[in-house]
Amino acid sequence: MGGFFGAVSKRDVILDVFFGTDYHSHLGTLRGGIAALTDNGFDRHIHNIENTPFRTKFESDINGISGKACIGCICDTDPQPILIYSHLGTYAISIIGVINNLQELTKEIINNSASHFGGMSGGRINTSELTAALINSKESFVEGIKYAHEKIDGSVSILILTDKHEIITARDKYGRLPVLIGKDGDGYCVSFESFAYEKLGYKDEYELGCGEIVKVTADKYETLYKPPKCKKRICAFLWTYYGYPNSHYEGVNVEVMRYRNGEIIARTDREKNIAQNIDYVCGVPDSGLPHAIGYANESHIPFARPFVKYTPTWPRSFMPTNQNVRNQVAKMKLIPVTELINGKKLLFVDDSIVRGTQLRETVEFLYDNGAKEVHMRSACPPIMFGCKYLNFSASTSELELIARRTILELEGQEGEKYIDEYIDPETERGKKLRDTIAEKLKLDSLEYQTLDGLIKAIGLDENEICTYCWNGRE
Ligand code: SF4
Repeated sequence: MGGFFGAVSKRDVILDVFFGTDYHSHLGTLRGGIAALTDNGFDRHIHNIENTPFRTKFESDINGISGKACIGCICDTDPQPILIYSHLGTYAISIIGVINNLQELTKEIINNSASHFGGMSGGRINTSELTAALINSKESFVEGIKYAHEKIDGSVSILILTDKHEIITARDKYGRLPVLIGKDGDGYCVSFESFAYEKLGYKDEYELGCGEIVKVTADKYETLYKPPKCKKRICAFLWTYYGYPNSHYEGVNVEVMRYRNGEIIARTDREKNIAQNIDYVCGVPDSGLPHAIGYANESHIPFARPFVKYTPTWPRSFMPTNQNVRNQVAKMKLIPVTELINGKKLLFVDDSIVRGTQLRETVEFLYDNGAKEVHMRSACPPIMFGCKYLNFSASTSELELIARRTILELEGQEGEKYIDEYIDPETERGKKLRDTIAEKLKLDSLEYQTLDGLIKAIGLDENEICTYCWNGRE
């Protein structure tokens, strides 16, 4: 995944971009970057942030530099922002998204213009550089960005800092991720997360539509291009999982949506008369917690935290690159409160059930610590398809998804034919899937939020929300 933040102003904005970018640290764990336009031209820094937070790594870089226009990013992929010297001028560019046809586009550009790219380890090409090459193949930023959107299979949101003290930004073609503009007395900022600029004293100004291209200067922002038709598909996981609680997208706050989502799950349980006499409602930390609060509020069952995360030295959950070490860290981080587990009937809410590996260990651990019953609720339906639009770590390979693995075990390759039945929780196959997963995870009961429930909790038109992960709808 990744996030970006930029600002252009009548005053120095280096510190704003330093903190604003840092507020996107939950969206990526690999690299951070910053590019400022100073009196001496561009000043650009990129660091690996796997084991050290963004702020610590960039503190010395920003000391002594000043600039009224600056951009920064956090990402899980290639080093960025990169600096480009081209017929469009000198500029810094950073992108968020995924380019599925990277190889084809690279070949096409090399064949057409005898151009070249800087190679990276593993023979890969930097995705920001490829995007810049597509942009540079046209006569203006607008034509170039439109062309990049047209050619790229996947999705790409773009943040450009030009040598004329302007930011040019574009939201991806289907609006899978947000791009927002904030305003203060001296200028404007561009951000993925709204809370990042609110905390810095900017006020909400504008949210880009899908494929929209906007130019931002210290004095104003103006739309350079707005597609005549917008087929919006904003990622539903922004609300259920990876968006920050304080943020809002399309006017819907993340934390509030999660409470609403939990309330709907609780109402459904009550209507079905399941999971009675529960002692505590609990959330799987961190993003399961607000869904659980919603469930507890609606059901009037006390909320409790039988696990508390040890965060002082393990503030992030997936820093180590090795999966085994990551699992070990995840396990070590969760410390139980045995008084809230022993002899209790617990109902947990998690943001989603992806692979199920960690969840099974958690459930075993709860039983080892004396839990009488463990019930699980997933804040979204079973994940059936890997995301092909974003660099989204929770659902990359379909065979890793517990729902798909279970279908394969139940019916072999034939199961693919019945995928629509498995997606529908009311069909026999849908029920069988849920029961089999519950059995595998040793749960006393397992229920998933329905797609209708999830859409209702978000509160937007269902046609504007990407639900590909759950129903394969493009
Ligand atoms: S496929 Fe899933 S993770 Fe990807 S954009 Fe759609 S809802 Fe989000």
